[in-house]
Amino acid sequence: MRDLDDLFRALAQSPFRSRFRLGPKERAYLAEKTLPVILEHGRRFLEERLTPAEPRNDGRQTPLRGHPIFLAQHATATCCRGCLAKWHRIAAGRPLSPPEMEHVLKALERWLVEQSSADA
Ligand SMILES: [Zn+2]
Repeated sequence: MRDLDDLFRALAQSPFRSRFRLGPKERAYLAEKTLPVILEHGRRFLEERLTPAEPRNDGRQTPLRGHPIFLAQHATATCCRGCLAKWHRIAAGRPLSPPEMEHVLKALERWLVEQSSADA
């Protein structure tokens, strides 16, 4: 698994990854629900869509809008097993391990915290 400082430096260099932002709606939702609850949603999405060895529709399972976690996934390249392999060095083709799941949640949390403290 890739170190998160190293990962976030690389993400900042990617025009595609760095254009994702929380919009006013997602910010309001995050503030209302609080970060721990949003991360619980994240854990559920990951279990359903990313943990299986061969997730259904891999590469297209993460919507581009609708929940702060979806935006965080695209911004942190945790949207599919292909991106996890390429960006996070987590091999595809087998289930995500519990430490890998925690790694992904840490990446999502870090991005959400950065976004909620950034200027709107
Ligand atoms: Zn992806």
